[in-house]
Amino acid sequence: METELPLAYFVGIAPGMYLPVYPVYVEAEDQSRHEFAIAVDQYLHGIDLDSIDTFQREYRISMTKSRLHQPSFRARVLHAYHSTCAICRLHHAELLDAAHILPDSHPQGMPIVPNALTLCKLHHAAYDRNLLGIRPDFIVEVKPELLREIDGPMLQHGLKEMHGTQIVLPKERASRPDRARLLERYEEFRNTK
Ligand SMILES: [Zn+2]
Repeated sequence: METELPLAYFVGIAPGMYLPVYPVYVEAEDQSRHEFAIAVDQYLHGIDLDSIDTFQREYRISMTKSRLHQPSFRARVLHAYHSTCAICRLHHAELLDAAHILPDSHPQGMPIVPNALTLCKLHHAAYDRNLLGIRPDFIVEVKPELLREIDGPMLQHGLKEMHGTQIVLPKERASRPDRARLLERYEEFRNTK
């Protein structure tokens, strides 16, 4: 902290698994609680949060989220699903996303594993656009209009054949998708024309 050197912060994702975030800077020390305040970006380093306006503060908070919370959310969700798309079982991390069940803007839309699914790019977009839904009993439903369409292999195998299948679930119960959140999201899917 005194020499203002950049450090690497190893954020715990799961037992024995860490996500490195760097550079980070030690900003302050709370001796009574044995804690340090860390700035997760050089642009956040050395800024007194009390001296800046609300807009600047909001900007810094959103930067911290994108530097720290989004990557660690993604790492936690992918780890829970063994880097496998919950719908099609695609096993390529570079093609996978941590998808929210209820969105960020929803009061229950926290970036936590029970509000998330590991989905490949195609199924993430299809889920977000309500082209497919996931019932609270973990069964995939594809939009009826899509089921009636005839097209190439991606529509046939990538989407239509997923209808009626059960999603892959994390082994750990605490990491499984929350049924109440799935239900709320599924109702939105059903109500989307
Ligand atoms: Zn998929």
